[in-house]
Amino acid sequence: MPWIDYRELRRRLKVEEVLAWMDWHANERRGDYLRGSCPFCGAAKTARTAKSCQGREFAVHLHRKLFHCFRCKQGGNILDLWSRYYEIDLKTAANELNQRLFDQPPLRSSNPESHPPRPPI
Ligand SMILES: [Zn+2]
Repeated sequence: MPWIDYRELRRRLKVEEVLAWMDWHANERRGDYLRGSCPFCGAAKTARTAKSCQGREFAVHLHRKLFHCFRCKQGGNILDLWSRYYEIDLKTAANELNQRLFDQPPLRSSNPESHPPRPPI
């Protein structure tokens, strides 16, 4: 596993992009904040398609790249969000986000028995 500079990774990651990877959609945007249903305690956790969920308890700051839920009080940075959402440790989360950032297939879908076909050269 390559060594990853967490700070550099957080700097490079776009909040909107990470949320899209999580399939989380904001119900409201106010200034630098996105508001929506909490992926941890809100309806989005079970529905996973937040379109029908009108929750606003979950806030994400686009530039500071921090999240906070006003109901379950979960909070942290964008790496914490990924690791808690997928219930993986921070190191794995950083590795996955780093891979996605550089447009490589994420580890979670890699299956040693079925390698994806290589693109033709
Ligand atoms: Zn919550």
